[in-house]
Formats: sequence, structure tokens, C-alpha cells
Amino acid sequence: MVYDVVIIGGGPAGLTAGIYAKRAMLNAVLLEKMGVGGQIIVTDLVENFPGFQEISGAELAGKFEQHARKFGLETKSMVEVNRIEDRGNLKIVKTNDGDFETKTVIITTGTTPKKLGAKGELELIGRGVSYCATCDGFFFKDKTVVVVGGGDSAMTEAIFLTKMAKKVIVVHRRDKLRAEKINQEHAFANPKISFIWDSVVDEIAGKQVVEKVMVKNVRTNAVSEIKTDGVFIYVGLIPNTGFADVRKDEWGFIITNDNRETSVKGIFAAGDCRVTPLRQIATAVGDGAIAAVSAEKYIEGI
Ligand code: NAP
Repeated sequence: MVYDVVIIGGGPAGLTAGIYAKRAMLNAVLLEKMGVGGQIIVTDLVENFPGFQEISGAELAGKFEQHARKFGLETKSMVEVNRIEDRGNLKIVKTNDGDFETKTVIITTGTTPKKLGAKGELELIGRGVSYCATCDGFFFKDKTVVVVGGGDSAMTEAIFLTKMAKKVIVVHRRDKLRAEKINQEHAFANPKISFIWDSVVDEIAGKQVVEKVMVKNVRTNAVSEIKTDGVFIYVGLIPNTGFADVRKDEWGFIITNDNRETSVKGIFAAGDCRVTPLRQIATAVGDGAIAAVSAEKYIEGI
């Protein structure tokens, strides 16, 4: 069988693309490496998706999925794409679960948290080092944790961690945060959160579990030791685009035009995995809609 659209990735962009594709009567399948929902599943609280003043990421993801299913979107979990073979009007999506033949592909594979690169980080993953407060915050009840980074992820997760931890220390490499102003204000107003500015975590240490971090002030080069039970790292995102042979920027984000077309005809990209000025659920959803409509127009053309 040849699909009209294979959507790769089951987050907000992919599920929205699925809704629009099915409503356009396209024969679409959504492939997801893990379970459908995407990264928002591990987001504690979403406050900026219009229509929902406060909703958990998992609940919102569930609503997206239900909505897509209502229109009959076929989804396949635990399917990992290795490569897309471009044969002009036909694309072969090569996966661990066989080949999927399709006229178009929409890539919505999102991003993965970046590693910090500190000494001891990899060795202590799961033993105090984490990239997911929603998953691991529970283990730090009444404990001290360090959060690394100054973006929206670092601020929202630091705030989330104050529900469990007794103390949250944010270490940021500059003296200004990158996060949205409202997230900054919430973090500054939280009595459990303190900040160490102009500093980087050079080393994470501990025998069995994390016990301390070595923090270097980048202005003075002075190194200080901070005792902590956990380190939550939010220093940016790496796009999950390694399998896609399309034009990308120097960091691997996919370059598209306004129609979300990539450099390869019939392959589109939407959401966090593409070059975009804003990575939000609201923008991912818009992207998914545009990509699906563009795919529909492309199919009409061939
Ligand atoms: P981000 O915006 O890229 O921020 C990464 C942060 O980590 C920056 O503060 C950066 O410092 C710092 N950093 C990067 N490399 C570092 C290193 N090697 N050592 C120490 N610090 C380092 O990433 P993000 O916070 O994950 O956010 C990603 C996207 O998701 C953004 O578009 C964000 O707006 C969005 N998001 C939004 C929300 C929301 O509630 N609205 C929540 C989560 C994420 P510099 O500032 O000095 O570069």
C-alpha cells in the first residue's frame, strides 16, 4: 500500500498534521519512536496554550491524540525511522518495523535535551543527574537540587521542583536569564529558588549518587563546591533529525520555507525540529497544520 502521508513523530505538530491530513481525506499514518504524545507528556504544567489556562502536558497530549483518533488517524508506536529513500514521487520510509511507501513525508520529530558535557554527568545519569523533573522530581522530596540553565525549561522545571525539594539552586552561565519574563518573575518570586550567576557546572561528583557539583565563576575563574542531591540539566535542545537527508542548519534543525517544505520535494517538516524563532506547543500546532495542507497540495500536483 502507498500512503498519501507518513508523519514521523507523535507530538503536537505530528498529531495536528494528522488531524488536518485526515480531514483532507488523505491516507495517513503516524509513526512514533516511543508512545504518541511527544515531549509535552513530561511537562508538568502548560499555561500558554490558548483555551487551556492550566493543563498538564500529559492531559493535553491525550486530548490531541483523542482528537486525531476521532478523524481516524492510524498511529504506530515503537517504530523508529532509520532513513527516508527519495524516489521522486514515491518515498520509502525505512524503519525497524519495515518499509512504509508514501507520496509525502512530514517530519515532526522534535528535539532531545542537550547534555551539559560536565565531568561525571554521564556516569551519574539516573543516580541524581536528570533531564526530566516531571519524571524524577519525586525522588528529591525535601532535598537540595541544582538546576543548570537559564531558559524556559530551566525556569519552569525549577519552579516545579520546589514542590518537592527543600531548596533549588539555579546555576546560569550569564547574569541574565533567557526565559520568558513571566517565567523569570515566577522563579524570582519563589522563596525556595536561589541563583548562582555567571557560573557553569564543571563537574558533578558522588560515589554512588550525586553528592556535590563544582561550580566555576566564568568571570573570576573561582571554583566553589556546592553540596546537592540532584542535578537537573536544561541547557537546550538537539533536533531529532539525524535520519533525514534534507537541508539543515549548523545545529541540525531542518530548514523549510513558509509552506514547511524541506529541500526535498514531498518532504515537509513541522514543529521544534525545524528552524523556527519559537518552539512552543502553539507554534508546533500551527506548523503541523501548514505542513499537512502543503502535503495535500503537493499530492494534487503530482
Ligand atoms: P534554550 O531556550 O535554548 O535555553 C538553554 C539555556 O541553557 C540558556 O539559558 C543557555 O544559556 C543555557 N546553556 C546552553 N548551553 C549551556 C552550557 N553548555 N552550559 C551552561 N548553560 C548552557 O532551551 P530550553 O530552555 O530547553 O527551551 C527550548 C525552547 O522551548 C525555547 O524556545 C523555549 O521558549 C521553549 N520552552 C517554553 C516553555 C514555556 O513555558 N513557555 C517551557 C519550556 C520550553 P544562554 O542563555 O547564555 O544562551
